[in-house]
Amino acid sequence: MSEGANPFESLQSQIDEAAAHLEIGDDVIERLKHPERVLETNLTVELDDGSLGRFKAFRSQFNGDRGPYKGGIRYHPGVTRDEVKALSGWMVYKCATVGIPYGGGKGGIVIDPDEYSTAELERITRAFATELRPLIGEDRDIPAPDVNTGQREMNWIKDTYETLENTTEPGVITGKNIASGGSAGRVEATGRSTVIAAREAFDYLGKDLDGATVAVQGYGNAGWIAAKLIDEMGATVVAASDSSGGIYNPDGFDPVEAKAHKNETGSVVGYEESTEEITNADVLTMDVDLLIPAALENAIDGDLAEDVKADVISEAANGPLTPEADRVLEDSDVFVVPDILANAGGVTVSYFEWVQNRQRFYWSEEKVNEELEGIIVDAFDALVETYEEHDLSNPRTAAYVVAIQRVADAAEEAGTFP
Ligand code: NAD
Repeated sequence: MSEGANPFESLQSQIDEAAAHLEIGDDVIERLKHPERVLETNLTVELDDGSLGRFKAFRSQFNGDRGPYKGGIRYHPGVTRDEVKALSGWMVYKCATVGIPYGGGKGGIVIDPDEYSTAELERITRAFATELRPLIGEDRDIPAPDVNTGQREMNWIKDTYETLENTTEPGVITGKNIASGGSAGRVEATGRSTVIAAREAFDYLGKDLDGATVAVQGYGNAGWIAAKLIDEMGATVVAASDSSGGIYNPDGFDPVEAKAHKNETGSVVGYEESTEEITNADVLTMDVDLLIPAALENAIDGDLAEDVKADVISEAANGPLTPEADRVLEDSDVFVVPDILANAGGVTVSYFEWVQNRQRFYWSEEKVNEELEGIIVDAFDALVETYEEHDLSNPRTAAYVVAIQRVADAAEEAGTFP
């Protein structure tokens, strides 16, 4: 994975690229390139051995013109202030791309969660929730899971907030488990939109998904669900990787069994249906029909992009391609379905969860999936329309053109205060 590109600078260059096709004043564009506020805090938490641990944490609220700030919380040793700012900005444009009424936010703690016990992680999470308390709320800012966080952490944050506020407000956070007010279909939603978007791209390009070969980089929540669903659609998953390495079988393997192996051993590596162990770079440059990057940002930089052989990339991860990689790929025939559309299923079903929480009325999984399908297909159609109308060089710029226009319209309607 390339350490090179600063994700916040990548976001700003993506905005500039799209703004060149829009008639929006530079002053408004400038505003749309920076977060409204960033919380930086140091959590002091007692560890199991009685010592005190200190953990740096952030929450960035990028833009609230279209609704409350919305975005996940990441636990990773590589979390930085600029990374969180970038991720919060991508949330703004993601929510606008799929037309759901949210702005964007993102949070993170600089931590390797594998080094801490469950009890320590609970205390760390509750300490962060306490810091977040004045900033969040179902009409203010609604966190969700991201890398290395899931239902467990969301339940802790909800419980901390509700206890301190002496209320019941499940819509303060999404990605909860069902018993705590979660939505059917939320866990699968990111992988599901990634494959719906891939299917639409194949359709658009006149390519057949049935029998298409697929490589998946990152085998966590987003990646492994995408692998499972694309396999169910008739494609063949031939390669997958996680932070320990990659597996390959030219005839394909069972993505569910590969996940079971990872659950048991901690990695896909060593899975018995794999005929060859490969590197993460091998997965990204494999000669497949579809590549799904589902790990972290900057997975493919300009150099690696020269070797990408996939026909379609559907970005489950946020920011997996650097701007240089985009430039290289736009000169080739690779069609990139951008993250702000491909992985928007996560936030879309989070939105459904929030709607259900507010209505105290819960939907079936069938209804969730049907509504999600409609939103992603509509967003893809809007992207293609803009892509063709403006004769753009890549689909990412088309998504940003659609999204920036929507955010700028809301900002301009609201005016400036004071
Ligand atoms: P996760 O923690 O469940 O999984 C991450 C996976 O990536 C793990 O399998 C890990 O081993 C692997 N990985 C890490 N470094 C790697 C490397 N260098 N090479 C190969 N694999 C590597 O996280 P997730 O929730 O699946 O998130 C993955 C990506 O999807 C992130 O970019 C996240 O922002 C994005 N995303 C997630 C959601 C969601 O709802 N979970 C929604 C939108 C976007």
